[in-house]
Amino acid sequence: MASSSAAVVTRFAPSPTGFLHLGGARTALFNWLYARHHGGKALLRIEDTDHKRSTQDAIDAILSGLDWLGLDYDAPPVFQSARAERHAEVARQLLDAGHAYRCYATPEELEAMREAQRAAKQPLRYDGRWRDRDPAEAPADAPFTVRLRTPADGETVIEDQVQGRVTVQNAEIDDYILLRADGTPTYMLAVVVDDHDMGVTHIIRGDDHLNNAFRQLPIIRAMDAIEGSWPDPVYAHIPLIHGTDGAKLSKRHGAVGVEAYRDELGVLPEALFNYLLRLGWGHGDREELTRDEAIALFDLAGVGKSPSRFDLKKLQHLNGHYIREADDQRLSALVAERLGDSADLALLEQAMPVLKPRARDLNELAEGAAFLFRQLPFPLDEKAAALLDQDARARLAAIHTRFAAQNDWTIDALEASLKEMAEELGLGLGKLAQPLRAALTGTTSSPGIFDVLILLGKEESLARIGAQAA
Ligand code: GLU
Repeated sequence: MASSSAAVVTRFAPSPTGFLHLGGARTALFNWLYARHHGGKALLRIEDTDHKRSTQDAIDAILSGLDWLGLDYDAPPVFQSARAERHAEVARQLLDAGHAYRCYATPEELEAMREAQRAAKQPLRYDGRWRDRDPAEAPADAPFTVRLRTPADGETVIEDQVQGRVTVQNAEIDDYILLRADGTPTYMLAVVVDDHDMGVTHIIRGDDHLNNAFRQLPIIRAMDAIEGSWPDPVYAHIPLIHGTDGAKLSKRHGAVGVEAYRDELGVLPEALFNYLLRLGWGHGDREELTRDEAIALFDLAGVGKSPSRFDLKKLQHLNGHYIREADDQRLSALVAERLGDSADLALLEQAMPVLKPRARDLNELAEGAAFLFRQLPFPLDEKAAALLDQDARARLAAIHTRFAAQNDWTIDALEASLKEMAEELGLGLGKLAQPLRAALTGTTSSPGIFDVLILLGKEESLARIGAQAA
């Protein structure tokens, strides 16, 4: 499966232990954009080896979140759990070539070792007690783990595309476990083998994995020494997302799952796509980019080194922009889903041009559209009720009489008529328009009052005005 071509191959490798969170979605986005920018391949791997914590719900949420964001993949997802045999095979190769060894230390011995290290205030790490021991000394039929023989001295240098040059002393990396006593592979081994077999050339992931890179590289280099064509991948460790208070993004900061932005917060996928893109990546002062522009411009050099701060207000502002840009038919369908059975798609579509400039998300859009589908008698909200005092209701009665005789039910004619009436009564236009809005919509905020009259039509408008007139 290894690719020998120079083409770029990236992968997104989520652990399905929770929903697709914003940080994961951004990692997925950067990998996808990098692959698309270079005309390479974007791959997906579900790291479901932790059977206790991985769930089908989480897998489904990840797949649907990626799909909703428009991130498509060039091959079906690889499930890590299905590849345990292959991982073990690589461990055996490492063992046979002397790059790994069997460790017979019991859990009790290892705990005693750590206890002693704690007491001596030393770092807790495996002390290499079976590294150079003659395997003949092994107790018969005793369980063993397979540990990597990591380089004892020298240093490992990574030219990280985001972090820059990072150097770690090899002595700091202990001989960690590749295969557990029950023969199952560890995460560290599985990641390396899968990346190799999938032909991954560029590993773009959260910088909480930077330390792992120094543990994963020795496996890669040992395998390269054994069979060749295990090149070092290019690494790019991107800073995590923080909240506006500077702490790592968590539930405390509000919703962290992509599906909550879609379902609860009414965010459009192109808005989240653009927001996540700009969160930690920049190209001059460009704020709004189309998908194609993002593909054309994305590079790792534009990824910042310091954590970016998630700002819900900015996302909502951007979402408002994309709502204004979005197609009316599409928005109507999305709003109808939120309004339920009462919604009439044709009417929503007709209303959309006057509704969408007022909304920052689909909830606000649905709220703004709700008046269209109210059935008489409907209650007034508090402000509207307060506005409709005796005088205002008398004015509504006069408006009702006048509008009943109005044959030309157009914005211009209705506007001229209401203005004329205001002049005759010596009142400001607002004194008529405000009660009118309250009666027609049950609220004090809506699109322009003449738009409302047109959308509701003459019959329904008169019925609603009549219901509040006195
Ligand atoms: N499965 C890991 C995670 O979800 C990512 C591993 C990797 O990217 O190497 O954090």
